[in-house]
Amino acid sequence: MKISGQLTVDDLPRICPLLCRQTNPRYGEDQTRVVEVRGVRFGNGRPVVIAGPCAVESHEQTLAVARAVKRAGGDMLRGGAYKPRTSPHDFQGTGAEGLCILRIAREETGLPIVTEVMDTRLVEQVAEYADMLQIGSRNMQNYPLLAEVGRAGKPVLLKRGMAASLGEWLGAAEYIAKQGNLNIVLCERGIKAFPAGEYSRYVLDLNVIPAVQANTFLPVIVDPSHATGVASMVEPASRAALEFGSHGLMIEVADFASGRPRCDADQAINGETLARIVKFARQRHERLLYAQQAA
Ligand code: PEP
Ligand code: MN
Repeated sequence: MKISGQLTVDDLPRICPLLCRQTNPRYGEDQTRVVEVRGVRFGNGRPVVIAGPCAVESHEQTLAVARAVKRAGGDMLRGGAYKPRTSPHDFQGTGAEGLCILRIAREETGLPIVTEVMDTRLVEQVAEYADMLQIGSRNMQNYPLLAEVGRAGKPVLLKRGMAASLGEWLGAAEYIAKQGNLNIVLCERGIKAFPAGEYSRYVLDLNVIPAVQANTFLPVIVDPSHATGVASMVEPASRAALEFGSHGLMIEVADFASGRPRCDADQAINGETLARIVKFARQRHERLLYAQQAA
């Protein structure tokens, strides 16, 4: 019996005809659409490393982390100015001031910026500062927000809902694409599945990477920070994600010398660990290129 609303990969051509391989044969079985963000290219074979603080807390903290990301060889800077928090009493981010701080960090380091937008009323404001707009896990199915972001004329980083199926995730991406914006990068960030919470924050669904790639031409990256919630797991999870074919990583980094982060401190790595992850990603990519040329 087919249950209404229960999706399988067979439903994808109907749900997301703009993004599905089956309905876009020009991408063949394995071509990826290259999504460019201020000169940084997702999906061209070289993994993109996005890193930065969970939240933009202050000028000093953000600049310190941005410099560490630059030193480590990262490609882009992340940082939430508007933060989705479980409790309304928790730190909500620095808002418009945070966006200005991100702009200053970009001016100094040259790193393009990705930051989250949570509210349709703020899309225009965030798009003025950001090079890439992030839709967070909690808003993956906020359809008016997806449409508004689709109209904003900026590349979009669409995180997977923490309990979303592949069909729901790609259906969400289709809302952005329907507005004429196909510059979408998907981001797996861990799902709520047994035994999430016991020894890690979520369960990193590595299997979804090849599944995404089999069904859509959009690039897909992995956020090992939220997926694990544990700093010591971030480096191995990053390596595993690359082995599964991830087109990049998004990692939370802290500058512990300037203080403990106000959000997600337990999953933040330092600049040295980030540098090791970037080195692994670069060397692995070079090895693959070399092997391809030799073949
Ligand atoms: C984030 O990356 O800043 C974030 C809040 O992650 P998620 O939406 O995946 O929880
Ligand atoms: Mn975070």
